[in-house]
Order: sequence, then C-alpha cells, then structure tokens
Amino acid sequence: MNAFSRRGACPALAAPMQTGDGLLVRLNPVAGGLSPKSLIGLAESALRHGNGIMEVTARGSLQIRGLTATSAALLAAEVDELGIEARTGVPVETGPLAGTDPRAIADPRPLAERIRLAIEQAGLTPRLGPKVSVVVDGGGQLTLDALTADVRLAAVRESAGVVWAVSVAGDGQTARLLATVEADAARDIALAALRMVAEKGRDAHARDLSERQLTSLANWHSVPPPSVLPDISPARGEIMPSSLLSPIADIAPGTEAAKQEPAAELPISPLAGEMSGRTEGGASRPPIGLFPLTGHVVAQGIALPYGSLSGRDLIDLASKASNLGTTEIRLAPGRALLFLGQPATANSQLQETAATLGFITTADDPRTRIAACPGAPSCASGRIATRDIADAIAAENAELLDFTLHISGCAKGCAHPGPTVLTIVGGENGAGLVVNATAKALPAGYRPGYDAARGISRVAGMIRGARYRGETVAACLTRLGSAMIAEAYRQE
Ligand code: SF4
Repeated sequence: MNAFSRRGACPALAAPMQTGDGLLVRLNPVAGGLSPKSLIGLAESALRHGNGIMEVTARGSLQIRGLTATSAALLAAEVDELGIEARTGVPVETGPLAGTDPRAIADPRPLAERIRLAIEQAGLTPRLGPKVSVVVDGGGQLTLDALTADVRLAAVRESAGVVWAVSVAGDGQTARLLATVEADAARDIALAALRMVAEKGRDAHARDLSERQLTSLANWHSVPPPSVLPDISPARGEIMPSSLLSPIADIAPGTEAAKQEPAAELPISPLAGEMSGRTEGGASRPPIGLFPLTGHVVAQGIALPYGSLSGRDLIDLASKASNLGTTEIRLAPGRALLFLGQPATANSQLQETAATLGFITTADDPRTRIAACPGAPSCASGRIATRDIADAIAAENAELLDFTLHISGCAKGCAHPGPTVLTIVGGENGAGLVVNATAKALPAGYRPGYDAARGISRVAGMIRGARYRGETVAACLTRLGSAMIAEAYRQE
C-alpha cells in the first residue's frame, strides 16, 4: 500500500503531473488558507521531497515541483499528517477575501458550496474534463474578473437585494451573459450548463455549447422543469454591475467607509472559507498591500516573483509572520499570499522581511509585469535562464514594461499561453524574440540566451527615441513592427 492509497491521504496529491522538472503537485486547501505552521511544514516537506521550488499560480493554487513518484508519495503522506485537507472535484472558485470583505456585494461561499454539492450529487465530476471550472464572484476588493471559467456567477446589487449574473465561457469581460437571477436559479443554470458540457465529453468546455443550448440556458429560469427548479422570482429593479462599485483600495483603513458591513446577505448560511482552482490559465493583477477586512482588521498582500520562490524563503517569511501574530496565510489569484490576523502595527515589519527575502511588496514592482516560467536550469525543457533574464530586464528596463513581457524557457509557453506584445523564447538558436504572438510562433530575431536582456535594452533604446508623446510602449512596438524590433534586438 502506498501513501496515496492510505485512508485519508490527500487525493489532490495522488495524481501528480509530469513536467520538465519532474512531477508537480497542485493543491488548494479546503479551508482557503493555511496556518503559518502548516505552510512551514508544507515547505519543509517540499524541500525534503521536491526541488525546493514552491509556486502560487495565477489562479491561486499552490504547486510543489521537482518530485519523483516515490517522493510525491512521501509528500502526500506528510501533507496528510499536517492535517491539510485539499479540495477535490470540479473547481468552484471564490475570491481570497470571500466572507471577510466589507465591500463585497455578497458572500459567495454559500452559493459556491451549494454548486459543489449539486455537482457531486449529479455525478458530474468524473464526466467533466480537469480544466472545467466555475467561478462564484461576490465582488468587492479582489474580484475574479481576470479568471476565465466555463461558468461564472457574479453578484449584482438590485434595489430589492442581491442577484447573480450567470455567464459562460470567458472572463469577467468576455463571458456570455445568460441570465441575472436569484441564487437558486443561478445554481440550477450553472448545473444545467455543466450537464450540457459533460454530455459533449471530457474534452468539452462551455465554449463548445451550441447556440440552441445557450438560448435554452438563458431561458431556463423562466420555464423551469418542475422536477428541477422551485418557483423563481423574475429579476427586478435596477441592476448595478459590480465593476461600477468603488473599490475599497481607495478607502483608508479605519474610516467609516472601511468599517461598512456587506451591503446584502444571502438567505443561505455561510460556511468556512472556500477557495479552489484545479485549472490554471487566468491572469490577475497580484493583490499587493493592505486590504481592510470586516472587523476592523486588514490583510497584507505579498506576491511571489514570477509566482515562485524557494521553500526556504517561504519558511522564513511564514516564521516571521507567525512571530508577528499572523494566524492564516491565504493563497490568492495573481501569484500572491494574503496574511491575516497580525496586528496593524506588525504590517510594516512583515513587509520589510518579505522585501528582504525577495518577495514583491509594492504594486509597481516591474516583476509583476513579467511572466517567466522556471526555465533553465530548473526545467529540463528550458533552453534559457528565464528568471535571470527577467530579473535583469526588471532592474534595467522597468520603464519598458507597460505590458506583460513573457519569457519562456521553450516554445511550450507554460507561463503565458496567450499572445503578448513581446515574448522571449528559448530554442535551438538561443533566445528568440516573438512579436505580438505566443511562445509557439516563429521568432523575428535571435540572440544568445545569456545575452537576451541586453537585446531588450536595445529595444528599449529604440522605443525611447521613437515613442510619441502619450503613446504606450505596447502601441509603439506594434506601430514599429516586428522587423524593426528584431533588428534592434539583434544589435550589439
Ligand atoms: S515553457 Fe518553461 S516550464 Fe514550460 S516546459 Fe518550457 S521551459 Fe519548462
């Protein structure tokens, strides 16, 4: 019997994924966060059994890399012994401040839990692919607008109370709105959409649903099947999108506004903190700085550079946080950690320690605008030292970065699957530069891998001379075109 088959062993660790640097495990604590002691134990385990690199992903999942089949089993056993319960099944994600955010439109956790339950009762988990996900967004300071999902439910405030905008196949901007309904109907439409996806097979997503199916989902709440849906009140009153509500980031801690309770409560009982995220692929701005919470306390957001750091650095930061009074460390979309429970007077010390250890503690840190995979030497597929190149560019050409620069160890493009204005990609010919495309595209020019940051300095020099007043760097690069950019990149 191996560790995975032990009674109670963490099932999320039972199926590690093969990557260029060995096996990788990804987990999301059921409780939403970890105590500093648990995070320290987990990091020690990662150091013992993996390559010591720990990551927080764009969707707020924790990853441990560099495992073998044997060491992954040992890690799973130790996670079990630490009492860390990981979420399984279809990810139904809520924001990292869910239930504690005084500016949220609604606490999304009860509805999320009801959707999880409905998915399990319907037996949908084994019928849906591993990247199918649901987002339940209560709005507030840290929305999940940037995360793509198959089904998303976003709280909106009506004059008569809170309702949920149900949409499919996209992020907060691109998803197709189906209906704005009360919580019961929102759950039922979400479940119906997932059933339709499951019927199309394990490779299917909500984007594969037909126009007829989408129309049927949009009308679902108005002619509910009697055996499935209770009576549902039609949406009424004026609807205010959460995006129009003022973010609490502009509200000083301790003010009356910051002490405001959530504007509306759902008629369903709250449960313990929830946050899950088996699928990856979204991109959020990292939550960095102080976030006022219900109860006149604050959370401190600290990001991991390029989403990862050594387990040793995490242990040092979690130990300091524990000494300062932190009781919980939550994983947050945007490759960040939120520290809760420490007194307000401790936040500056926590921030100083984090900065000394190499974490990102200010929102304008240029490293937040670079997506860099582990690359060489961490990943066997890596052809360039991505993180070293990223650090050099962040130090020397921060003003260039008004867009996301992608630095990829190989054409797989793990850190940023979508296109971006500039991508440096490792390959047989060194560090290629791709313009307005993904890492898989043919580079417009090459430099030796060790010299890629200097090539970007040449591009930055060209931008300084060519940019119009008020023009963004991204717009300037697009205007100049790939041939000119490649020429500058290759210059000695
Ligand atoms: S993109 Fe980076 S992390 Fe992904 S396989 Fe290539 S080198 Fe490895």
